[in-house]
Amino acid sequence: MGLDDITRRIRAAEIAAGRAPGSVTLIAVSKLQPPERVEAVLDAGHTVFGENYVQEAQGKWPAWRQAHPAASVHMIGPLQSNKARAAVQLFDAIHTLDRVTLARKLAAQMGEQDRHPQLFVQVNTGDEPQKAGILADELPGFLALCAELRLRPEGLMCIPPEDQDPVPHFRLLRDLAQAHGLPGLSMGMSADFEAAIAHGATHVRVGSAIFGARVTG
Ligand SMILES: *Cc1c(COP(=O)(O)O)cnc(C)c1O
Repeated sequence: MGLDDITRRIRAAEIAAGRAPGSVTLIAVSKLQPPERVEAVLDAGHTVFGENYVQEAQGKWPAWRQAHPAASVHMIGPLQSNKARAAVQLFDAIHTLDRVTLARKLAAQMGEQDRHPQLFVQVNTGDEPQKAGILADELPGFLALCAELRLRPEGLMCIPPEDQDPVPHFRLLRDLAQAHGLPGLSMGMSADFEAAIAHGATHVRVGSAIFGARVTG
């Protein structure tokens, strides 16, 4: 538990996978955490954070960013289309580009604001009806639409089904990214980030293993 421990485990997983040390970006997921825990990680010099809720992030990050100008904040939660403006204003990356209407809204806002957060397309690798994300079959068409809108996603993101071995989902995401020439893979959380790194994750999203259990919001 804790930042140092997770950083060490990421280094070890990179080396075990024959990957360059430091090649995986650790997104410290700070949603619903008491501020003093996040401030401790900021003070330790960590710079990349993840949030799930636009409103919560709007309340916390303007002040933290002023105190820590190198900090970047990644949106990893479901994004409502009516929050696209705020999201483009606030976030350095959006991992949850998951539908056509959102692609159109983000493209419009990125043009209007001339701000270009990194984008990841969320893929519903488990074909789960209740889960957000583009189905694997629909990914080629969705990426073609992104290209028309001049959106250039950096990579793909997935949240494997809770009750399954995540590895087949990591493999599927890696294969899809490779097939489309996308370098980024946002996958792996507290319970499975080492397996995700073994399968090519470039961004792991780790919350409770760094900060402890979340305070229910
Ligand atoms: C909350 C969340 C995480 C972090 O989960 P932990 O199990 O606390 O590491 C990662 N990814 C997404 C999409 C999340 O919503």
